[in-house]
Amino acid sequence: MLGPLPRDPHQALWDPEKQAMDPEQRRELQDERLAAMVARILETPVPLFRDKLAQAGVRRSEDLGGVDDLWRIPLTVKQDLRDSEAAEPPWGAYRFTDPRQGVRLGTSTGTTGQPTITVWTRKDLWVEYESGARNWWRMGYRPGMIVTHAHPAYLYGGGQMLQATYEYFGLLSLWVPPPDTDELAEQAVRFWTRVTPDIPFMGFATGRFLEVANKLGIPLEDAGLTGLKAPPGFGLGRGGMPLMTAGAECYAYVGGPCGQSPGAHIHEDWAVVQAVDPSTGREVPDGEWGNLTVTTLDRDNGLLRYDLEEACAILREPCPCGETAIRGLWGGRFKDLLACQGTRFQLNELEAVLRGIDELSRPSLEYQVIRPDGGEDPLRVRVEVASEDPDARSRAAERTVSEVRDTLGVIVDVELLDRDTIPRAGYKATRIVDS
Ligand SMILES: [Zn+2]
Repeated sequence: MLGPLPRDPHQALWDPEKQAMDPEQRRELQDERLAAMVARILETPVPLFRDKLAQAGVRRSEDLGGVDDLWRIPLTVKQDLRDSEAAEPPWGAYRFTDPRQGVRLGTSTGTTGQPTITVWTRKDLWVEYESGARNWWRMGYRPGMIVTHAHPAYLYGGGQMLQATYEYFGLLSLWVPPPDTDELAEQAVRFWTRVTPDIPFMGFATGRFLEVANKLGIPLEDAGLTGLKAPPGFGLGRGGMPLMTAGAECYAYVGGPCGQSPGAHIHEDWAVVQAVDPSTGREVPDGEWGNLTVTTLDRDNGLLRYDLEEACAILREPCPCGETAIRGLWGGRFKDLLACQGTRFQLNELEAVLRGIDELSRPSLEYQVIRPDGGEDPLRVRVEVASEDPDARSRAAERTVSEVRDTLGVIVDVELLDRDTIPRAGYKATRIVDS
C-alpha cells in the first residue's frame, strides 16, 4: 500500500485513535516521548540543547520530570539557531541526525537575517504529512478533490511541503506559480479556467489573482475564484486566529480548527505547545497571550522549548467535536506589532479595517504602512484606490480615517495612490516600510 489507508469519508476525524485520545494517556505519551528526546540530546549529543539542559541541571533524562517540568529549560529562539549555524557552518550544533540522513532541505525566508536551514528525514516528513491530513480532513477536504496553491518553491521549502502533503492525503493539487508578475498570475488564472479546483484558491496572493483576472476580463466564476473569504482580522487581546502553524522550521501543521470552538486543535501527540511568559519560563494562564513555545516530539530532528517570538493563547475547555486536544490561538508575530499613540496592534488588524472599505478592497487591497516610532504622530498609511473620481476618493479617505479611529483608536494620515503604484508580490507582500 502506497500512502495512507483509505478512511470512511463520513468519519469525523482522520486519526481518531490519536485525536480523540484520553487526555491523561496522551500526557503519558508526551512524557515518554519527551524523555526519549532528552536522552537523545544527551547521548548523540546535540550540543545546543545539551547546554540548555545543563543550565536547568538536567544531566540525565531522569533529571527532568516530564512535561510539567519543561518550564525549567531555557527557551531557544531563531537567533540561537542562526548563531549556531554561523559558529559551526553550515549546519550548526543543533541537529539530531547527520544531515545526510535527511531527504529534504529548506531554508526560512530570511526576512530578518540569514535564513536558517531545516533538514527533514523521511520520518520527519511523514509526521508533517499525517498532521496536514488531520487538518484537511477537519476542513472537509476528502481524497479525490482538486485543490490549488501558489506557494514559492526551491530553497524555500514551504511550497514543496504543501504540495507533498496534499499528494499524501490523496488530493489532485494544481501547483501554480506565485503571481510575482501579471504574466505569472495570468498563467494560473487561465489554467483554472481549464481545470477548475473544487476548493477555490486561498492564500496570501488571493488579491493578485482577483486583480489580474479583472484586468484580463476573465469572469471570476470561470476560474473558480468566487466564494472566497478574506482572511479574518485578529490581534493581541482581540481574539486571535486559529494556531495552524509553528513555522516550517519547527512544525508546519501543528494544528487545525474544527469550527465548533475557537482556536485550532493542537497535535499534542507530536508536540508540546505552550504559551510562555519568557521572564519565568512558565505558562501564562489559559486564554492569555504568551510566547508560542513548541517542543516537537517523536521526530528524527526536533526542537526543544523553541520560542517562535509570536503570540499564542491556549484553551483547554472540552470541545463538542470529539477531539480531546487543547486548542491554540495565534496572535501574530511580535515583530509585526505596531505601536503608536499609546496603543499596540497587529498589522493584520489594520488590514482587516481597510479590507472592509469597498473603495479600497476592489479589485484587491494594496497598501503600505510607514513603521511608526511609537510616538503621537498620525500613523501614515498609503493605499491604492481604483476610482479616479475626486469625490469618491475623498470619501474613501474620510472613511479610512474614521473606521481606523473607531476600531483601533488610532489617528491615521491616508495617502491615496493610483492602482499599480505599490510593488506587487507573489507571496507575502511587504506591508511595513521605513519611509
Ligand atoms: Zn473541536
